[in-house]
Amino acid sequence: MKNNKIIQERLNLINNLKARRIIVSENVYNAMLNVPRHLFLPELNLDKAYIDTPQQIGKGQTISAPHMNAMMCEYLEIKPGDKILEIGTGSGYHAAILAELTGKDGIVYTIERIPELAIKAKEKLKELSYSNVEVIINDGTKGLESKAPFDKILVTAASPKIPKSLLVQLNPNNGILCIPVGKRHWDQDLIVINRIKGKYIKKKVCKVIFVPLIGENGFEK
Ligand code: SAH
Repeated sequence: MKNNKIIQERLNLINNLKARRIIVSENVYNAMLNVPRHLFLPELNLDKAYIDTPQQIGKGQTISAPHMNAMMCEYLEIKPGDKILEIGTGSGYHAAILAELTGKDGIVYTIERIPELAIKAKEKLKELSYSNVEVIINDGTKGLESKAPFDKILVTAASPKIPKSLLVQLNPNNGILCIPVGKRHWDQDLIVINRIKGKYIKKKVCKVIFVPLIGENGFEK
């Protein structure tokens, strides 16, 4: 695909998400416009990079449809300088959007349990000069205690329950966690939790389908 065509397709997709009121804030609009989604996908799927649909990224894993990336970013209300934890690096695409949103004064820690995906994502993020992202190979259901607390935590795989380890690693002063919770491969809700003055305020926002979160505080392998 020619570069101009790619840029036009990306602009059309992002404008469509805005027209549908899925993207409402200017920072999410700009961040998604800046990240070249096609470069995070396997070559086979290149022509579908700017269609609003999930895609296979190898190792049986999928990258969400762009409207889901946008929605989750809106719920997280990311401000420049936020310290962010993502669980489920996958292709690294969503980590790049988070990096755009938090900017050079912020940092994104992203954890992936499958080493091959983590290595590929790390290389891609480096190639695209996202120096404020750190990719870690581990079981993300335990969070990342050494770097806690986090202003924002995003989980991009579905968990059978909300891991306590993540709740306690949220900034007590307005930290936000966004996580899909439900059964393996079906009946899942996207949950958004605000931690304010020691309380956790939880809301269910919509039905979703994500690949399973596998680990100590998630599903069994
Ligand atoms: N955010 C990704 C898509 C994630 S798909 C992107 O933008 O491309 C979900 C990912 O979560 C998969 O890569 C899967 O391997 C990973 N995953 C599942 N359980 C995990 C765990 N316990 N810790 C870290 N990563 C996990």
